[in-house]
Formats: sequence, C-alpha cells, structure tokens
Amino acid sequence: MTKTVQHWIGGRAVEGTSGAYGPVTDPATGAVARRVAFATAGEVDAAVAAAKEAYAAWGQSSLAQRTSILFRFRALLDEHRDELARLITAEHGKVHSDALGEVARGLEIVDLACGIAVQLKGELSTQAASRVDVASIRQPLGVVAGITPFNFPAMVPMWMFPVAIACGNTFVLKPSEKDPSASVLLAGLLAEAGLPDGVFNVVHGDKAAVDRLLTHPDVAAVSFVGSTPVARYVHATASAHGKRVQALGGAKNHMLVLPDADLDAAADAAVSAAYGSAGERCMAVSAVVAVGSTGDALVERIRERAEKIKIGPGDDPSSEMGPLITKAHRDKVASYVAGAAAEGAEVVLDGTGFTVEGYEDGHWIGLSLLDKVPTTAKAYQDEIFGPVLCVLRVETYEEGVALINASPFGNGTAIFTRDGGAARRFQLEVEAGMVGVNVPIPVPVGYHSFGGWKDSLFGDHHIYGNDGTRFYTRGKVVTTRWPDPSEAPAGVDLGFPRNH
Ligand code: NAD
Repeated sequence: MTKTVQHWIGGRAVEGTSGAYGPVTDPATGAVARRVAFATAGEVDAAVAAAKEAYAAWGQSSLAQRTSILFRFRALLDEHRDELARLITAEHGKVHSDALGEVARGLEIVDLACGIAVQLKGELSTQAASRVDVASIRQPLGVVAGITPFNFPAMVPMWMFPVAIACGNTFVLKPSEKDPSASVLLAGLLAEAGLPDGVFNVVHGDKAAVDRLLTHPDVAAVSFVGSTPVARYVHATASAHGKRVQALGGAKNHMLVLPDADLDAAADAAVSAAYGSAGERCMAVSAVVAVGSTGDALVERIRERAEKIKIGPGDDPSSEMGPLITKAHRDKVASYVAGAAAEGAEVVLDGTGFTVEGYEDGHWIGLSLLDKVPTTAKAYQDEIFGPVLCVLRVETYEEGVALINASPFGNGTAIFTRDGGAARRFQLEVEAGMVGVNVPIPVPVGYHSFGGWKDSLFGDHHIYGNDGTRFYTRGKVVTTRWPDPSEAPAGVDLGFPRNH
C-alpha cells in the first residue's frame, strides 16, 4: 500500500480525512512513491484553530524561550542535513549536493532567527518632551500562513517560519503538493526541539486549501512563493480579506556579458546558473545577453561546457543534473525548444530527446541552448523553468539594459565585466530586486532580504533579513510621562498636545 504523507496539526501527524489525494512521484523513475492527503476547508480550519490556541502563550513567551528552541532546532537540522537532502532528492529530483546546498541556505535563515533579539530591539527616545519618553516596539501579528513552491521544498518554508515564530507568531504551512515530505520532517524536528504544540502546523493540498487560508478570518498575514499568476491571485485575494501579504512570483533572469568580461568565467557561470537544478530555480539565469563581439565566442564556450554535464538520478553521486519535477512539466519545457526555430532562434543544443538508460520512465530532458533568440519568441518571454538557456545579442550596454528593463519580470540579474564603472552604472540602472556583479545567482545572505521587482513580487516586503522581521511584526509607539513627584498636576488643557 502506498504510504500517505500526513498533515501536522497541533504538534502531531494527522491522517487526512477528505479522501482526496495527490501523487508524489520520484522524478527519476516516474514511480508514484507516496500519496499526499489534500486538506478540506475544515482541516485547514483545524490547523488555524490549533495555531490560534498556541498563539495565546507563544505570543507572550520571552525572546529567550523562543530563541533557545530555535537554537535546538538549528542543531537538529544540522544533524539531519543528509536525511533532509535525501528526501528532497527523492521527491524533487535535484542532485544530492544541490539538495544539501538548499538545506544550508535554509539553515542560514534559522541562524538569523536565532539572533532575532537584535532585530526586535525597539527604539527609545528619552525626554522627547518634558518628562516624556517615547518607545517604538514591534509585536507579533498572530497566526500567519506560508504557501510554498515545489522547487525548494525545505529552503523556501525556512525563508518564512523561523523568522515568523521567532517574532512570536504561530504558523500554518501549505507546502507544494508535489514534494510535501520535507515540511513534515521539519515539523518533527521543531517538535523535538521543544516547540509547543500548535506553533507550527502543516496542511497539504491544492487550491482549495490555499483559498481557505487566504480568506480565513484568523489568518493575519500570508507569505507566498510560487509562479507569477498565482502570486498575483494570492496577493489580490488575501489583501481583499484584510491580510498583510508578501507574494513572490516567477522570473526571467538576465546575465549581461560585456566584451571585456572574462569569457571563460562568464561561460562557467552561465552554465552553472542556467542548468543547475535543471533550471528549476527562480534565480536561474535563463537569458544571456551578449554585448557586441562576445556572442559567438561565448556561445561556443557555453556549448562546450553544457555538452559535458552528466545527467542522471539525483542519488547517483556522479550526476550533475537531475530530472524535471513532473512528466507534464518535462513536456511543456520540451515544447519551447521544439518551437524555437520557427520563432527565429538558432537551436545550438536540443536536449529534448534525452533519456537515461534503465530509468526510461523518469522525467528526463537534456540541456538546450538557443542562440539569437528574438525578444518576441515565447521561449524568451515565458519563464520556462527548465534547462533551456536563451542567448540574445545586442550591440551596446545601453541596448542590453533596455532589453532587461523591458521584461515584465525583475527578480535577479547579473553583469559580467572587468569595468567597475559599467558595473556600478548597471547596479543603479537595472530594474531588478537582486543584482550580481560577476555573480550569476545573487541570492542574498540571510541578513539581507530576498525579493524581486515588477511581476516577480507583489506586496511591500521582501522576504527574510530586516524585511522579514518587519513583515511578521507590527509597530507600536508608547509615549510615557512620569511626573516629577514634587510637581503639581498640570491641570485641564483642551489644546492639541504640543511638545516642549
Ligand atoms: P505554483 O505557483 O504552481 O505553486 C505554488 C504554490 O501555490 C503551491 O503550494 C501550490 O499548491 C499553490 N497553487 C498552485 N496553483 C494555485 C492556484 N490556482 N490557487 C491557489 N494556490 C495555488 O508554483 P510551483 O510550480 O510550485 O513553483 C515554481 C514557481 O515558483 C516558478 O514560477 C518560480 O519562479 C517560482 N519561485 C519563485 C521564487 C521567488 O523567490 N520569487 C522562489 C522559488 C520559486
């Protein structure tokens, strides 16, 4: 009998009752390894109720109590890195070393949350007026929800819940139904670390579960990471229901290569960032913009490197790239490559016919490289989210920046150059939330916030870093007067209070 991935509500694993399940497939074999129970609105309500009940005590707990639990969670996570990474590989398909990298970047946010006391320190002005002190403090929101995508089943939830619960909130997570087990493992580690029941809950499911969270009156805030159409919908729906929302969407990340760049370094970076995790990263480089004379030499260097990448099951240590998440996604990615020539692109590498011997039912696709891609091509305009790299040619730096800025997406971008002045100009002129200078995937460290511009983020706050703390708390200003004991009462004054 297929194993069922359960919800985690009120501190324990809970069997789903809806009778609705989704398949959890091993992308390397195509076999259904588990099934996941989809929550009903009633089950989502139960998770929110457990979180609300837990908030009564958790919201009042001391910073020291909360962070000591997070320190224990950090130690457990460190101990279980390998197990968590193996689970990610089994359900997502990414290679083990990449899965370990995902866990490490998630752990970085747990580090941040362990030190939340520094960020939650308020501000105090003494003697703002005579005998008046003013303090700004930040307090938790209550029950907050997180809705996460398939491509980082451990890291993206960890962009959210460590900061949220460190700030004193309680949390309901709705992870991707495609690779749901990592979140349940994390829930178990949190419980082992001593997190009180109900502070962290997991409900699995699809749109129905998400919709209940977006409209539930007891959910104060929603963090979402996923594709742009769903991010836009989540932002609009949850905002209309009075919630604070941060909704991070999809991307088309450009790498601008100037003629003075080290072309070998640029080609290494382009191949790593375009094909790592089979291109299923929101910060993947999916469009290289070659300036001036660089195009031919750069494309040749990318091709040489891409041809050497070893594709295979994620648990084979010799594999550098694994399969795609589902068969349907594999077919969609292949359709962009199949249509590219008719759209005016030159197909330098076509990975669509690729398979792995002994794993014929896996969701395989090889590396594709499209050159001279027109901006009108679907392969350029859409986020493909697979191992397909588009190269676009421009004559000048200005033309390159204009092309990047015309994209509706604005997640990450990078410039490769030896010219500091050009790099500095690029930082200021480019319309994207995260910029790399000779760094192809500029995912900010935990203590700087992550977030894109334009259709890559809906809402006012980026995620983790200082923005994370601001998102998961609300401000309060306390104005205090303690009269001097020798002072006579001021008496009645109906005028608007003036400071003096
Ligand atoms: P997705 O939008 O399909 O799903 C994300 C979450 O939303 C899942 O939990 C899913 O169950 C839920 N969902 C799906 N359709 C829904 C609907 N119609 N209504 C309500 N909820 C719905 O995204 P995905 O395919 O899991 O992940 C890949 C996408 O995520 C890519 O577009 C990628 O760029 C993006 N992503 C963005 C970032 C970022 O930081 N900006 C990070 C990782 C992934």
